[in-house]
Amino acid sequence: MKFTVDQNLCIGCEACEGISPEVFTFPNDKSQVKLDPVPPSLQESALKAEANCPVEAISHTS
Ligand code: SF4
Repeated sequence: MKFTVDQNLCIGCEACEGISPEVFTFPNDKSQVKLDPVPPSLQESALKAEANCPVEAISHTS
């Protein structure tokens, strides 16, 4: 599963890193995905982060 953060939408709230720190990182003031693809063991937390993003900046493809 591949995850993407839309850099134009992300407001840098860091919620996704709080929920799924293995998958999301903050090299600048925006979230980026550091695992591509995201391994099965981390997909549940990454999907939870996606669902909790306040601006729906995170998306995924299977
Ligand atoms: S939860 Fe959404 S808005 Fe917040 S840092 Fe992550 S991608 Fe950006």
